[in-house]
Amino acid sequence: MRLVFEKSVPGRRAVRTGPRDVPAVTNIPAGLLRQDGPDLPELSEPDVVRHFTALSRRNFGVDTNFYPLGSCTMKYNPKVAERIAAYPGFAHLHPLLAQLKTGRLLTRGALEVLYETDQWLREITGMAGFTMQPLAGAHGELTGMLIMAAYHRDRGNNKSTVLIPDSAHGTNPASAAIAGYKVVCVPSDEHGVMDVKALECNLNDEVAGVMLTCPNTLGLFNPHIKTICELIHDVDGLAYYDGANLNAIAGKARPGDFGFDIVHVNLHKTFGTPHGGGGPGAGPVGVKEKLLAFLPVPIIVKTGDGTCALEYDRPGSIGYIAPFYGNFGIVLRAYVYMLMVGKEGLTRVAENAVLNANYVRVRLKDHYSAAAEGLCKHECVFSVPKPMLDNGVHAIDIAKALIDRGFHPPTVYFPTTVKEAMMIEPTETESKETLDAFIDAMIEIANEAVSEPERLKSAPTTTPVSRPDETAAARNLNIACL
Ligand SMILES: *Cc1c(COP(=O)(O)O)cnc(C)c1O
Repeated sequence: MRLVFEKSVPGRRAVRTGPRDVPAVTNIPAGLLRQDGPDLPELSEPDVVRHFTALSRRNFGVDTNFYPLGSCTMKYNPKVAERIAAYPGFAHLHPLLAQLKTGRLLTRGALEVLYETDQWLREITGMAGFTMQPLAGAHGELTGMLIMAAYHRDRGNNKSTVLIPDSAHGTNPASAAIAGYKVVCVPSDEHGVMDVKALECNLNDEVAGVMLTCPNTLGLFNPHIKTICELIHDVDGLAYYDGANLNAIAGKARPGDFGFDIVHVNLHKTFGTPHGGGGPGAGPVGVKEKLLAFLPVPIIVKTGDGTCALEYDRPGSIGYIAPFYGNFGIVLRAYVYMLMVGKEGLTRVAENAVLNANYVRVRLKDHYSAAAEGLCKHECVFSVPKPMLDNGVHAIDIAKALIDRGFHPPTVYFPTTVKEAMMIEPTETESKETLDAFIDAMIEIANEAVSEPERLKSAPTTTPVSRPDETAAARNLNIACL
């Protein structure tokens, strides 16, 4: 497809402005004036509309079809949240207004949204206070690790290590390393969850904390989670909860009650806000009482007159972590979502997410190799069975074949503890009909992998590009060739 610049025809216009009705500015120094006009495409309105509509049709999103990308929780984003986020009273606010005395009145509602979301998240996770600033889950992890480091500095602890399970999301070790910690990997036990014995072997005074997601990236809830938190506390370490999988337990169980000290919540996973192509997201971080002093500034507080305000005077704080208050629009959408589903609704969300994942697991377990025995939580992981591998069919081929059938592939090759992994997360928003259609496609592909493996190797055939070199596509992007 040609670039919009290549479609440009000199003089063609979508909009023509009327004659100027204000005096021309004449006192701009000549050196600041550009010699040529701006290099913008010149097109008619239909050209522009068709260009961008055509591009949007090449996109795949939760608004177009089923998107079972495990760990990412690609659930439907309710449109009412978009409507409310677009209200001029929210959308037209300037972030600096909140700091001006005169602006306080205009931002009262927005500050209240931040305050109320904080309260809801406290209740849902069992934490004592939150920051809304982190701009993604990974950013929340880094914030949490900096809080962990501040805690140990404050106590005069000299600790170097963070323990992380082998099934962890890659951002966990990355965040710990950026915060200056050495990462030690703790293996899983035969059931696929963190091995308590292996954890004990790695415990010593150097351990600053542990980073865990529960249920983990295999969709498994660790029955020893309380013991793990206690063992970490015994060496004066902190337990960090990666909340990316909170949608499996929200309303049912709270990481704070398991013993975790710090959590991040991915609003774009658990609370139905859009992922937005790698951003904007939001990864609020919550902490227990003993860590409140270290939260980034500013935090939102209720003042004596019942209105909300920003508090900056917090000497123990790790400082700023993002401009202003984070991605306010995303926090607002999450707040709308919480109000919309309510307490009981959130519990049903978790129940249906788990039910849907188990439905897929049971219907596919005779066709692919389940990575774990028994019930899963919100996602299930399969690997490619040996007969398919013997035929030269790999997880990547199954993923590509799904694209031809109109489905976004599941996450593949993750978690890395499972060879040829396919990680399916249906989420609670999908109907039985959609799940059945996906499962039927997966079964059809399984049969094809035996009868006609070569066909799978040439998939996808329905996309503008079939199999790009994915590394090169990321590093040397050239969209003009599409
Ligand atoms: C998505 C995810 C993260 C990172 O969150 P982002 O918002 O994508 O930065 C961390 N851990 C797990 C388990 C995840 O699924």
